Amino acid sequence: IERKPLLDTLGQVLAQDVRAPEPIPPFDNSAMDGYAVRAHDVAQASKTSPVTLKILESIPAGYVPTRSVGPARATRIMTGAMMPEGADAVVRVEDTRSEGEHVDILAPVAVSENVRRAGESVSREQCVLTKGTCIRPQELAMLASINCSEVTVIRRPIVAIVSTGDELTPLGEPLEPGKIRDSNRYGIYGQVAEAKAIPLDLGIVKDDADALERKLAEAMQQADALITSGGVSVGDYDVVKEVLLRMGEINFWRVAMKPGKPQAYGFIQGKPVFGLPGNPVSSLIVFELFVRPALLKMGGDTQLFRPIFSAQLRHDLINDTNRLNFMRAIITQEGDRFFASTTGPQSSGNLHSLVLANGLIHVPPNAHLKQDEHVQAQWLE
Ligand code: AMP
Ligand code: MG
Repeated sequence: IERKPLLDTLGQVLAQDVRAPEPIPPFDNSAMDGYAVRAHDVAQASKTSPVTLKILESIPAGYVPTRSVGPARATRIMTGAMMPEGADAVVRVEDTRSEGEHVDILAPVAVSENVRRAGESVSREQCVLTKGTCIRPQELAMLASINCSEVTVIRRPIVAIVSTGDELTPLGEPLEPGKIRDSNRYGIYGQVAEAKAIPLDLGIVKDDADALERKLAEAMQQADALITSGGVSVGDYDVVKEVLLRMGEINFWRVAMKPGKPQAYGFIQGKPVFGLPGNPVSSLIVFELFVRPALLKMGGDTQLFRPIFSAQLRHDLINDTNRLNFMRAIITQEGDRFFASTTGPQSSGNLHSLVLANGLIHVPPNAHLKQDEHVQAQWLE
């Protein structure tokens, strides 16, 4: 946990209950611009037979009344201004007609009408926010309203990101034959930040076990978690497996999903490690489905998964693999119904299929679906 200035805590999770040291509102005040009166005095007031009261003073918000409101008296009062002694209700200015030192009241009010009582919203020592609450703008406002300028929250995890591959070329350098750009690091960086964690970009490492081990050791010193990209498959140069196994407890999984079959999860020095596949779409989707919830959980969030809903297919669809297929989709809403179409070619190297997508549809293994059939869907934004 960490204690930090209120404005720096947006999106973080409270590490302890917060009690109000003072009531809200702190004093009885007017909910309207109008006249503070004794309700009894104006019980018979109407448009045709107004009740005339003498005006004692005018109180703007932020000031303290000096006169007590006695029989047949009224005090002009603004929204948020302190109620004067003696008055027990406020008549809206719309229900009055003012003539110099006097005001005609054109409608009755009940006792306490248009008055906000001290402690009405929050009483002293009331627990206003509980441990585990995610701080949204309304929580920032609530914390400010009870003078909480510093907040104890769960720290955002620092997440090291390392790309692996001899073929990877940093941006700005000329592309030699056989090489490609390292795009995964950028996608993962954005996903880490969106999962409210702090990305730590550690660059590219060659498919060389010793170099990788040195880099990952450096990562574990600086970060709370590690994400690698590439090298977890069964290729000859997939050294990530070997190095992760040397350094910690890692399980290599073949998940029956498409894209993203090979993945690695485990711990090094007690810190979570996520080995993502190298294919650009696989990397982004495996992060979305497996790493994002884990990072949110590390940050104290309890709402870890995106809502799943049902969408109607706009076209026939085939998944002829025996893996659950997460297809990139364009999802639209019409009334209370959702519709989905895929973004076209779905190869795991085709980043464009994700750029066009605003959601994923979950297509079961060996499914031959017809237009208008329903699939499970989720937003990607
Ligand atoms: P790998 O998982 O290392 O076998 O890589 C699978 C595929 O993803 C290969 O075509 C790699 O060139 C590609 N790839 C691996 N890492 C990256 C990366 N950081 N950015 C873009 N493509 C990558
Ligand atoms: Mg590789």
